[in-house]
Amino acid sequence: MEPIRLRLFDWWSRYARDLPWRFGRTTPWGVLVSEVMSQQTQMSRVVPYWTAWMRVWPDAASLAAAPKAEVITAWGRLGYPRRALRLQECAEQVAGRYADRLPQDYDQLVALPGIGDYTASAVMSFAYGERIAVIDTNIRRVLSRVFLERESTGGAVSREERQLAWNVLPKDERSEDAGAEGEGPEDAGVEDSGAQGDSGRLGLADPQVRSAAWREPASARWNQAVMELGATVCVARKPACDICPLAGHCRFLKAGLPGLGAGRTRPRQRFAGTDRQIRGSILQALRQASGTPLSKKELQPLCADEIRLDRCIVSLDDDGLLEIGQDGLLRLPK
Ligand code: SF4
Repeated sequence: MEPIRLRLFDWWSRYARDLPWRFGRTTPWGVLVSEVMSQQTQMSRVVPYWTAWMRVWPDAASLAAAPKAEVITAWGRLGYPRRALRLQECAEQVAGRYADRLPQDYDQLVALPGIGDYTASAVMSFAYGERIAVIDTNIRRVLSRVFLERESTGGAVSREERQLAWNVLPKDERSEDAGAEGEGPEDAGVEDSGAQGDSGRLGLADPQVRSAAWREPASARWNQAVMELGATVCVARKPACDICPLAGHCRFLKAGLPGLGAGRTRPRQRFAGTDRQIRGSILQALRQASGTPLSKKELQPLCADEIRLDRCIVSLDDDGLLEIGQDGLLRLPK
């Protein structure tokens, strides 16, 4: 395991995307916001939204006190806007029940609105440095390929996958030593793999950030690095094995990539022409109206099918994302 870890840590410290919520530069609450925003949305798209959001609502208490209309507006085009309201519900509980401090406890985290196993584990690992196996689609794909010589099956996480994730998770005893001066990745005897992941990435150019990356507990570094490898190099359909730092250790590559892509159970979801798109357009129109209520007639250009438009309006109302006044006009909730 040690050579695999060393190669991966070296790659991580050189080529990780320098995202603003990484490497100890934000609060645990900021990490949680980044995780919620990144569910079903690419991280690169999340950065400007996260930055603006944290400037206005840096903690749970400020978000809890915000008008819903502002929260929905700030969510912008991130998609699945119910997440914004769930995040605000979560903020209300953190502010009220935990004195504005995000719990450092897995069970308390998963009990909060909108937080499931993955998000709770990610916060425990990335924000608090606790040793816990984080399991998402990218991590499952990489671990399954490297260690089990096959594609991840998709669907619910199996016992075997969970056990594997725990088995390969590094211990943290030496994490502080590893961060000591002179023990960075350059001194670990690992040659640059040349793996740059997706083109155009800067990696960790700032020496201070790079040093912070190396000081994180080994388990947190491992979780983030495996996930990053799955997001940028060991991708589902066309893994870039020629630049992968784990190529020399990967059983799946050695076996000739058997059944590549077979684990993909869900086809990519179409967006154009769906109710999701119409719902997004309705919300966008209400945001742009800046508090001025709109009539259904004003929204009709968004969807020629009146029954469908009604259905989308009703579903947004059911989700608490808009309000229908007694005058029949639509507005974002207060
Ligand atoms: S060698 Fe290829 S299949 Fe194996 S981990 Fe790297 S990118 Fe994935």
